[in-house]
Amino acid sequence: MIPVKSAAELERMRASGRLAAEVLRAVLREVSPGVTTEELAGFAGEMIRRAGARSAFLGYRGFPGEICVSVNETVVHGLPGKRRIALGDIVSIDVGVTLDGYIGDTADTVMVGVTDHRVARLVATAHEALAAGIACACAGRRLSDVSHAIEVTTRNAGFSVVREFVGHGIGRRMHEDPQIPNFGPPGKGPRLKPGMTLAIEPMINMGEADVEVQADGWTVLTRDRRPSAHAEHTIAVTAEGPEIMTRADEFS
Ligand code: MG
Repeated sequence: MIPVKSAAELERMRASGRLAAEVLRAVLREVSPGVTTEELAGFAGEMIRRAGARSAFLGYRGFPGEICVSVNETVVHGLPGKRRIALGDIVSIDVGVTLDGYIGDTADTVMVGVTDHRVARLVATAHEALAAGIACACAGRRLSDVSHAIEVTTRNAGFSVVREFVGHGIGRRMHEDPQIPNFGPPGKGPRLKPGMTLAIEPMINMGEADVEVQADGWTVLTRDRRPSAHAEHTIAVTAEGPEIMTRADEFS
């Protein structure tokens, strides 16, 4: 059963979404050569606390960080630690915040300095795939139209879609119904209705789609160790079309 949020709940989701977006933008500005991933997480944690919110990831099934920091061949769920960001890396930052009982979840991948043009294309494709998926999150359409749009955009660019990890409904809990795969045929699954709130998050690989979870139980790497990119927005389905709840002000 996919929860449908009331107007009052959507207002709270907007607030948590805005905060998640602001934290994400602020952390991305801190990503530079020499900074450690745990310094980035500490910065995020401080900003989340100052806003009167808490990290939705810290302690989730024992997750030890305030945010996920996933570098290069790390697909998602990178644990903050001693790793130093280097020139040429791509870095995915995933932020989840709980504010007033509701969760905003958003991620983006940035390049640190100049990267290989294929890597730059991978990052751009993650953004394009996310936009294509969101464009299908309209009332009356089927859930798998979102999945299909992401897959087609990714495949047309010559990249592959991760299959083991998926987008999700979101609200009071980080993972609500439905699961939103980033692949599949169109026209399947439930019809989207105004008030549904979804975290849409393509995870795409330069090489093969296969991934493996490391011994820490969290870190997801590409099996072929080639780079991976990730982008995510929390959106609401509305009568007027998809509303991105994790959109930061352009100049924030
Ligand atoms: Mg998510």
